[in-house]
Amino acid sequence: MIPSVLPTYSRAPLSFSSGAGSWLTEADGRRFLDLGAGIAVNALGHAHPALVEALTTQAGALWHVSNLYHIPAQQKLADQLVAQTFADTVFFTNSGTEACELAVKMARKYWFDKGQPDRTEIITFDGSFHGRSSAGIAAAGSEKMTKGFGPLLGGFTHLAFGDHEALQEAASDKIAAILVEPVQGEGGIRPLPDACLKGLRDLCDTHGILLILDEVQCGMGRTGRLFAHEWAGITPDIMMVAKGIGGGFPLGAVLATADAASGMTAGTHGSTYGGNPLACAVGAKVMDIVADDAFLAEVNRKAGLFRQKLEGLVAAYPDVFETVRGAGLMLGLKCKATNSDVVQAGFDAGVLTVPAADNVVRLLPALNISDDDIGAAVDRLEAAARQVQGANA
Ligand SMILES: *Cc1c(COP(=O)(O)O)cnc(C)c1O
Repeated sequence: MIPSVLPTYSRAPLSFSSGAGSWLTEADGRRFLDLGAGIAVNALGHAHPALVEALTTQAGALWHVSNLYHIPAQQKLADQLVAQTFADTVFFTNSGTEACELAVKMARKYWFDKGQPDRTEIITFDGSFHGRSSAGIAAAGSEKMTKGFGPLLGGFTHLAFGDHEALQEAASDKIAAILVEPVQGEGGIRPLPDACLKGLRDLCDTHGILLILDEVQCGMGRTGRLFAHEWAGITPDIMMVAKGIGGGFPLGAVLATADAASGMTAGTHGSTYGGNPLACAVGAKVMDIVADDAFLAEVNRKAGLFRQKLEGLVAAYPDVFETVRGAGLMLGLKCKATNSDVVQAGFDAGVLTVPAADNVVRLLPALNISDDDIGAAVDRLEAAARQVQGANA
């Protein structure tokens, strides 16, 4: 008999009744150090007082009105994002995959309106992840996500990650856009080197191609800058955001330059919930906190501390781990043992991590994790490593 919750996830046998900061608690009182943060969503940890305040205050005033009317909280968050980024304009969604939908539509409409209606092809890369909608799975293109779901949305050219020659060959003034994650998340915490991101920008400029960055996972302070592309000193034309921006409340966004967004006129796109007052009140508070230079400096300091301790762990358990990689507090432990065994042993040791492709264990802690909790995290990861090493001996 099918479970009442559609069984598309193989879930760990854990369930939590409360959370505070970087800790989650089960009903029986057992505590877990949360290094998954709801897959990079709980950017400020669980039950952050300022976010609880923002949400409950808005909840007491007004929940929902639809985009038929002006929404002050939405206007405020859009202004914050425009002030802090390359973007001139923002559309709010409820998720990353909806942001992908709009990014694809926006790029195609751009060329349609410029008198090049056949310029629809979008280049993407192996190992990428852009969500589970029909456009999202077609964009990523992996068999794991697409098998059985055809006919797939056409118009995506998939290139091998890091194949510069193939990219040079595929790029032309027939291509509408290049869509890429500055740091691949689901693909195994694979950062695109700054030089490659710069090269991509140059290539796009040469051919007039739109550069779409998917910063759903790596954005919102995760790498120690508000958005990951800032490290490379470039800007995209269109950017997808979600996960951390809502701090746990469902919220996503597409940010764009005025030119890239020029095709999206009244009636060309919409969302009933997108930019809802509750989501935007929380998002505006997340932005207040995360877009602050002092906060981001702390993210970088903590990231340095965490990484240094993880390097020690990897060196101490060479049969379990191969290397640490990533950027800021978006870290991956590339494993020699099976990554899911390490995640499983972590449950026993009271630490939550997230598996990713390429045999990687993802560490995506709250951006405000304390130094003490970083220490506790490494202790618990070490206990997990000991267990895996013992089991494999
Ligand atoms: C999670 C993710 C998405 C999809 O976001 P949802 O909110 O799950 O729809 C898209 N792109 C990247 C890079 C992601 O990590």
